[in-house]
Amino acid sequence: MGLGLFGGGVGVAQFLARQGAHVTVTDLRNTAELSSSMKQLEGLPISYKLGGHAEEDFINADMVVVNPAVPKNSKFIQIARNNRVLIDTEMNIFFKLCPAPIIGITGSNGKSTTTTLTGKILQETPRRTWIGGNIGKSLLGCLDEMKPADIVVLELSSFQLEELNHTKKSPHISIVTNISPNHLDRHTNMDEYLQAKKAIILHQNSRDYAILNYDDTELRRWKNDCKGHILWYSAKQALSNGAFIKSNDLIISVNGQNTAIPCVSSVKIPGIHNLQNVLAASCAAYLAGARKQHIEKAITTFTGLEHRLEFVREVNGVRYYNDSKATTPESSIAAITAFQAQVILIAGGYDKGSSFEEFAGACAQHTKVVVLIGKTAGKIKELILKKKGSGEIPSIFMLKTFEGAFRQANALAKAGDVILLSPACASYDMFLNYEERGRKFKDMVKVL
Ligand code: ADP
Repeated sequence: MGLGLFGGGVGVAQFLARQGAHVTVTDLRNTAELSSSMKQLEGLPISYKLGGHAEEDFINADMVVVNPAVPKNSKFIQIARNNRVLIDTEMNIFFKLCPAPIIGITGSNGKSTTTTLTGKILQETPRRTWIGGNIGKSLLGCLDEMKPADIVVLELSSFQLEELNHTKKSPHISIVTNISPNHLDRHTNMDEYLQAKKAIILHQNSRDYAILNYDDTELRRWKNDCKGHILWYSAKQALSNGAFIKSNDLIISVNGQNTAIPCVSSVKIPGIHNLQNVLAASCAAYLAGARKQHIEKAITTFTGLEHRLEFVREVNGVRYYNDSKATTPESSIAAITAFQAQVILIAGGYDKGSSFEEFAGACAQHTKVVVLIGKTAGKIKELILKKKGSGEIPSIFMLKTFEGAFRQANALAKAGDVILLSPACASYDMFLNYEERGRKFKDMVKVL
């Protein structure tokens, strides 16, 4: 139920069909919309019910595998439940069958960056490393090759974790990068979102590890919920157990043993938030066997992921950054505050119900121009005006099109400035997804 376009649906359909199950794929979207996923299923004995669901599929099945994007209150899930049909998810199946220990990574922001970094560090070691999950790759198809001595690095979304709660399983090593309100359009409230995230530590045992961001006030409250060892990390202060920064040293302190890695000035991804990601990844990889040389090599060569504070180009002294993946106010605050230079910000988009109070404060304090687009533009403008009071900057513009916003930003840029696309919002009101928005931005920068 829900093939989707992000890999999980394809992974589980392939896996079950290859195990000999009679698989029906059903999705609200039609063949044309799902073509990229369907191509990957070509040649497998799968039936399709697309463009909508049919009740009989939820009554006659032995098992319904639900995509995490499907709303929990779907009437079809209820039909399956009423008919005592087993309900499961791709990730739950993986957790039940995976022979190797799992490093699970969640958080409101920084999941993909931290997952990739953890994987890259471990790939420097002799231990065979598998990277997947919410980052876009189902590892179900790799199960045959996986050995108990391997290590698995998984990005986990709150929706995947919510389901994982039902199987009472948590990863052996869990990282939580930060917690801020997100997806409140899908989770009923903040408490439900928190409970979903907590599944990453709730079912650990005394031999497991929780790696938590000490700089995040919500996470500090998780101390009593942890069942295993807790390792804290901080980009702001020294800690006795975990990871922190001391001038140019990244220090990992585990069981009274300190490992100092002199590499902070060589980290290429900008901002304090990225140092936090580096600390979390290094700590997890260390527990899984990585040592100084592996960590240093991976973190000093990693230049970041596409659409995450990605440097595009410098034109006439103006630097352009694509941070289209910043779909929450917190991720945009991290971007705005990562620069010493004057920032011209392009922001706004689809309204997920986030609060823009703090984001508006950061705009008022750290930007010289804000160009707004999309559904949230008016709301954000009002808040920035309130925050800046009688101050001159930032000047604020509202534009109807993305191209218009880009032209406006360019018209006001001077050598030394940064033009930053960091929308603080999802893209669905104007684009297919954040990737399309980011690529469009980069295309416009490239033809300058
Ligand atoms: P996720 O997978 O949680 O969406 P990403 O690593 O893809 O996280 O980054 C998403 C956005 O959040 C990007 O704009 C990125 O620059 C920003 N970001 C990355 N790490 C952090 C962090 N630790 N805190 C706040 N924002 C972050």
